[in-house]
Amino acid sequence: MSPPEIKGNLQLRADVIDRGLCALCGACAGICPYLVAHRGRIVALDDCAVERGRCYAFCPRVATDLDAASNAVFGAPFDTAPIGRVAQVLMTRAARENVRSSAQYGGTVSAIVAFAIERGFIDSAVLTKSDASVLPAGVLVRDPDDVLSHARSNYVAAPTLAAFNREARREEVRRVGVVGTPCQALALAKMRASPLENRNNVEKLSLVVGLFCTWALDLDSFTRFLAEKTPLDRISKFDIPPPPANVFQAFSDSTSVSIPLDEVRRFIRPSCNVCLDMTAEFADVSVGAAEGVEGWNTLIVRSERGRELVDAARAAGVIETDALPDENLNHLKGASLGKRRRALANIRQTTGSDDDLLYLELCAETRSRLLAE
Ligand SMILES: Cc1cc2nc3c(=O)[nH]c(=O)nc-3n(C[C@H](O)[C@H](O)[C@H](O)COP(=O)(O)OP(=O)(O)OC[C@H]3O[C@@H](n4cnc5c(N)ncnc54)[C@H](O)[C@@H]3O)c2cc1C
Repeated sequence: MSPPEIKGNLQLRADVIDRGLCALCGACAGICPYLVAHRGRIVALDDCAVERGRCYAFCPRVATDLDAASNAVFGAPFDTAPIGRVAQVLMTRAARENVRSSAQYGGTVSAIVAFAIERGFIDSAVLTKSDASVLPAGVLVRDPDDVLSHARSNYVAAPTLAAFNREARREEVRRVGVVGTPCQALALAKMRASPLENRNNVEKLSLVVGLFCTWALDLDSFTRFLAEKTPLDRISKFDIPPPPANVFQAFSDSTSVSIPLDEVRRFIRPSCNVCLDMTAEFADVSVGAAEGVEGWNTLIVRSERGRELVDAARAAGVIETDALPDENLNHLKGASLGKRRRALANIRQTTGSDDDLLYLELCAETRSRLLAE
């Protein structure tokens, strides 16, 4: 199979943005004078004549060869198993109670990122912060003590990689980590795999911590809806508790609102409906909830560098680990496969063809294994 064709900014707009397929990962933003992330959208400020653009090459919703991306991260072709390439699956949580209580679930992400900076695995990390209007944006953190102030989940899609693009240019940033959703981990893998000479300094990328993600929400429509239920500037935490709760919760210091999940689903970004990946399969480690085990995370170790970091964090007493019950692992595999199958069905419905997989350009073998799972 010949490598996917790299096109330019105008084609990116036609193939992705105008078709409502933008994941808002931020990979195309802040690298040129033309594309910027602005309040929940990628906005084109002007036309660009470059014929082979980084914006197109790194976008996870166009011309994507999963084998090339996997080879660039793991040195091996794409693993079509339900939760991707796995070295180890564990249940984990931050050892310190103050980390757990400030974090989304077990605080594993914040604990290992702070530890990775402290021990020099990385010198800084791109995380996501949210402002008083719930607008999320990427931010570079250099001090391990600052990591926890960017904890917890904002379920609104964030253009976090625009901050990676901006910050990795700086000379003092040499070994940077990124915490991101599956589309962001895939975009970073595409940067690594790209034949382009300018790859946004991706050689400085030294750690990717992926977040499990079923979907993310559209900023504008969702926050307008939410503002009618609760003042946005008082929200301190969002949560989606495990089934059978079927609610989306927003907490402030004194109150909480519970919204039926079905009312929230209409704000899911359309791009999420064609996303195959629930567990951030291109990350070094991936972290999600440990369903039914309050205060713990599920952690998937995927790469050698991920294993080194997790082993060191465990040995230093920064995280506690336990075996993930078989029932949880099976449930996770089922949920992940469910997302992949729904996405493949939506992709084929969009193109009206079993041969055209929209943004996926796969060799015959990967394609048939993926469709057979
Ligand atoms: C859009 C979205 C959807 C998710 N869906 C699921 C799901 O279906 N199932 C599941 O098990 N888990 C899901 N998660 C992950 C889950 O909410 C926790 O982030 C994860 O379990 C880690 O928990 P923790 O306590 O270790 O996190 P913490 O230590 O609190 O760290 C959370 C990290 O997430 C980063 N972050 C917050 N919002 C965003 C964002 N919008 N984009 C990128 N990074 C962000 C923060 O910077 C922080 O570093 C989702 C997260 C997001 C952002």
